[in-house]
Amino acid sequence: MTTRRESAQFSAAEQRQVREAFAANGAAECPRCGVSLHARAIGGGSFGLGYARRREWLTCPSCRRSVIFDVQRGTRN
Ligand SMILES: [Zn+2]
Repeated sequence: MTTRRESAQFSAAEQRQVREAFAANGAAECPRCGVSLHARAIGGGSFGLGYARRREWLTCPSCRRSVIFDVQRGTRN
């Protein structure tokens, strides 16, 4: 098992897993550590347009991996 400290990142599959969990539950766990990821919304878009795009930045407090992805807000409130 390598413990080299490269740029810590999730694999594509892990990112998808996190994104799906977050979309379903509004929260996600680190696929590696099993701890709750810190979610942080990144503002940027203006909410006056037809649709608002939001970015979510999830960081693992344990392994420090992080993933940023766009969150598409659905039609439900
Ligand atoms: Zn982790």
